[in-house]
Amino acid sequence: MDPITGITRGGKPWTPEFATALNAKTCIGCGRCYKVCTRDVLELIDRSEDDISEDDEDDSESISSIMSLANPDDCTGCGACSRVCPKACFTNTPMPLAA
Ligand code: SF4
Ligand code: SF4
Repeated sequence: MDPITGITRGGKPWTPEFATALNAKTCIGCGRCYKVCTRDVLELIDRSEDDISEDDEDDSESISSIMSLANPDDCTGCGACSRVCPKACFTNTPMPLAA
């Protein structure tokens, strides 16, 4: 199925890459992605025990909140969240056109 596509002001085609996943185990709750998202897709939530990776157990006390994809259907696929994330938490992918 063809992906959702857009067009720039100058008429060049582009393919949005939507935020489809956020790795809770690597997120440090820095909020950078939240600041750049213009669509209110993201929301800070309390970090649970399940979100702590084995590599990160030493830091578990210091990180109490992590980001979540609270409103994924509002994402426009701009990719800004992925570009600013220092921990590469996001998976951004093209999406098929709805039937
Ligand atoms: S891709 Fe853009 S609209 Fe979607 S969550 Fe990231 S910053 Fe927000
Ligand atoms: S920018 Fe990355 S590490 Fe920072 S809150 Fe967002 S997902 Fe988490």
